[in-house]
Amino acid sequence: MIGQIVGVIVFIGIVAGIVTLTELNRRKTISCAKCKTRFDFETDITYDEVESINDGKSNVAKIEFDCICKQCGANKIFTKKFTIASVDKEGNVKRNNVERNIKKYFS
Ligand SMILES: [Zn+2]
Repeated sequence: MIGQIVGVIVFIGIVAGIVTLTELNRRKTISCAKCKTRFDFETDITYDEVESINDGKSNVAKIEFDCICKQCGANKIFTKKFTIASVDKEGNVKRNNVERNIKKYFS
């Protein structure tokens, strides 16, 4: 019984750790490397699709972001993949609103 409880607590700890790391990584990505100012999606960022990857199960867009820091003027360019559409086990196509997901990533 105690062993099970400890196991559950450890599991929750690992999941929470992964979620925290992912979130910290996201915040680092969307902030200036020099002065740590968070980029503002509406004013500091331009983006473009540089590659479209389709493996039959999903259609993924590789987006390149060009960010200019409004505080120090530093430029940061990085790419991130966003799923445009995917096919589930039943063969149904699920489309994602990429623009909304991008905005969410920067919020
Ligand atoms: Zn900066």
